[in-house]
Order: sequence, then structure tokens, then C-alpha cells
Amino acid sequence: MRMAIAAQEAGECINLTLGEPDITTPPEICKALCDAVNDGHTHYAPGAGLPSLREAVSSYWKRTYGLDYCTDEIYITTGGSHALNIVLHSILEKGDEVILLEPFFTFYEQNIEQSGGVPVYCMSGSDRAFVPDPAELEKKITPKTKAIILNSPCNPSGVVYNREVLLAIAEIAEKHDLLVISDEIYESYSFSEPHTPFASLPGTRGRTIMIAGLSKAYAMTGWRIGYTMCDKSMKDILQAIGAPHIIGVNTMVQKAAEFALNNCDNRVREISELFKKRVEYAAKEFAKVPGMQVTPAGGGFYLFPNISATGMTGEQFSLEMLHKAKVALIPGESFGPHCSDYVRIACTVSEEKLGEAANRMAEVMKKLI
Ligand code: PLP
Repeated sequence: MRMAIAAQEAGECINLTLGEPDITTPPEICKALCDAVNDGHTHYAPGAGLPSLREAVSSYWKRTYGLDYCTDEIYITTGGSHALNIVLHSILEKGDEVILLEPFFTFYEQNIEQSGGVPVYCMSGSDRAFVPDPAELEKKITPKTKAIILNSPCNPSGVVYNREVLLAIAEIAEKHDLLVISDEIYESYSFSEPHTPFASLPGTRGRTIMIAGLSKAYAMTGWRIGYTMCDKSMKDILQAIGAPHIIGVNTMVQKAAEFALNNCDNRVREISELFKKRVEYAAKEFAKVPGMQVTPAGGGFYLFPNISATGMTGEQFSLEMLHKAKVALIPGESFGPHCSDYVRIACTVSEEKLGEAANRMAEVMKKLI
């Protein structure tokens, strides 16, 4: 956030800080919203979300991944962020520990702390291509550990956890009786291999709380719509905790989301293809910047290059690039306490701009190292 503001203040710059698709929501989804308003869908929706939307969510995961969640196991929220907040408020008691696979999405840490919990960090860096080491993860478990948060494909590293790693984590969760919060908001952006929902692995269903949404897959970040999927007993708790916040999510947005889930698989593919091309292109271009070591992304729309060879921290490097190359990045420090060797590049601008940003940064770095 600080860097996004600094980017605005720095004036004319290429902004690579934004974690949202730069394309607008497909027009047929926008039309579905207008139709919903005109058809009178302007009243409160049921607390768990419209049954027809929950049906559409259920059907999306069934046809895409063969995963079975019925409507009673789905709770509609104001985006994945809201889902995460409700989940952590619902499961944590003061002092409970939650393991974060670092680097992680910034708001996980704040959400844990706001819920009275304690984040415990398990770093996996570019030397492991950001793939977590299950043995290291297990070492972080104490009698206070309540849950692990997974995020594959990952913001910011772009790593996609393969089945073997997911199975190892599933085994650890079972052995220590832990909940797994699986944030799968980037599921449609899985490039290196097909996405594996954590709850599809044997024995995981009962301990998994899935978080997902429409922000990224359908370019609907501003619509604020997401959901959780978990066993009904847990879903009822989430609903009870969530109800006083919002009563229910905007009804017409739910109708548009229902339309998107039922009719727009082609759009999801188009959007994901566009970003796949961009992250591949960006990985090649940014690898030419002296001092920048780029790990190609298996999914998502970010790169998380290691810049330790420059002798600068992520924060120093980002400021240098902002002022000298007029390129705005997010320092690695925003994604965990052990991430100062990194910066995040969001490939949410055109290839032309990504190439131009890489060229400008390369010119600056040639003079510095
Ligand atoms: N989870 C991750 C990993 C994210 O990167 C984001 C947004 O950037 C979210 C959750 C929240 O998404 P939303 O609240 O828009 O659904």
C-alpha cells in the first residue's frame, strides 16, 4: 500500500504493484448485474448467500475439479479477504498459533493477529523455488498450533504446490490434528500443472476450510464477492460469526456471480491464458536485469525475484527503482519477515509495459553493479 502511494506521488511511472487483472469484467457479467437490478433483486439475500449462487459454486468445483461440496457447505462472503477474516475469527482463541508458509499474502498476518492468534513463519525461498519443506513445517508445530494457511497458486511467489507436497502437508495436518485453511483464489491461474484442491486429497475434507472467489478468475475485484467451502458444522459457525458484519452479500452481485460461474468458463480460460503469456514473458525480460534472479511462476500473476545480489534490501531496491527507473514494485518485506531479499512484480500491465519496465530497470542496474 505504501509503495502504491509512493508510486502515485512519483508521477509518471510503470506501476507493477497492483494485484488485480487490468482488464474490465466481461460485459455479459456486467449485463447480468443490470438485469438482476431490473428484475427486482434489490432485497436482502439469505445469510449464507443465494441458494442458486451456492448451487453455481458447487457445480463449478464439481465440473472443474470433481470436488463435492453441497450448497449447505458453502458460505458466500464479501470477497476472499472477508472469508479469511471470518474463518480466523471463528477458529482462533487468544494465543493460538497459525503457520504461515512464507512468503504469504500480506493480510494473512494481520487477520491472524486481529483474531488474537500468533503467526508462525515457515520460509521457503528461491533456493527451493518457493516450495515448502514439509519437514521444516512440522518443526514449527507446537501444542498451540491450530491451523496452517496454504495458498497455491501463491501470491506473491507464483509457486504451485505439486501433489506430493500437498500430500505431505495433509499427512502432517492429520498427525497433529490441525485445520488447513486453503486459499485457492488463484486456482484458475495454475499453469505448470492442473490445480489440485487441497480438499480433494484423501482424508483432508473434514479439516479443510477452502477460500475462493471471483475477483481474480473473472476480473471482478471491485465486485467484492467470494466464498468459503467446508463441512456444514463449520459453515454454520462461520455464518453465525459473519452475520453481524454484513447480514448478507449484495444480492445483485450474487446474481451476477451466479451467471459468471454458470456461463463463463470460456472467459476464465481466456483471462488465465493472457496472464500465463505475460508471466512467461516477464520472467524472461526481468531475468535480464543485472542482480535480479527470477524464479519462473507456475501460476498466479506475480513474480518474486531475489535481488540479494544487488546488495540492497527489497525496500531499498524498490525505492531505487521508483526514483531512478520510474517503476513501482512492492518490497519483499510486505510478504513476511524473512523476505527482504525479494521484490514482487505484478504482471498486471501489458507485455509492452512489462518489457519497458525491465529495460529501464536494467539500465539503472548496469550503472549500479
Ligand atoms: N487471497 C490472496 C492470496 C490474494 O492475493 C487476495 C487478493 O489479492 C485475496 C485472497 C483476496 O481477494 P478478494 O478479497 O478480492 O476475493
